[in-house]
Amino acid sequence: MSRILVVEDEPRIASFLLKGLKAAGFSAEATASGNEAIGLAVHGQADLIILDVGLPDVDGFTVLEQIRGQGVRVPVIMLTARSSVEARVKGLEGGADDYVPKPFSFEELLARVRLRLRDESPASDSDPVRLFHDGLALDLRRRTMEVSGVTVELSAREFALAETFMRHPGQVLSRQQLLSTVWGYDFDPGSNVVEVYVSYLRAKIGKKRIQNVRGMGYRLV
Ligand code: CA
Repeated sequence: MSRILVVEDEPRIASFLLKGLKAAGFSAEATASGNEAIGLAVHGQADLIILDVGLPDVDGFTVLEQIRGQGVRVPVIMLTARSSVEARVKGLEGGADDYVPKPFSFEELLARVRLRLRDESPASDSDPVRLFHDGLALDLRRRTMEVSGVTVELSAREFALAETFMRHPGQVLSRQQLLSTVWGYDFDPGSNVVEVYVSYLRAKIGKKRIQNVRGMGYRLV
């Protein structure tokens, strides 16, 4: 699951972006501070950054310059109310990959996010397109799953969870591992979201396919 860092100081926009990105199956976290964004971008594991230009401490252009200077190569999409050509040129020269003027529609931003992430990870021959395990087949490109030849519908989270299990068949995966892989930034260690989604997935792929390993986690069998 791709992790997206949203750097935006307007709470309304930040929460709208987080909700939308999560609903689209991404893991997302937000910060309103340019300085904090630099730390998160350099030390974090974001796969893409959505960066507002007008921030209360250091502006988005400075953030961009700093993180590029420190070797962060992930795609950066800049958001700005400054719809002038100058702002755009400055952003692109500073190493931004794309530029979205405010106001924007979420669908437009989402399309650009998907495009940038796809550019970053072209499917190579060594990347499996389908994962198989004992009657289960997961098509990573079409985002579908087949159970004994029958296609089952999975939500984005269920798919991410299924993918994690299918990449590690027979291995015990701890609740913590599943949380950080499938939910990323966005997890509350106290929540029972893993249990809930494991039960959803069991209902779709077969109750006995995912074993509880007491005190350890879960295993795809
Ligand atoms: Ca702003």
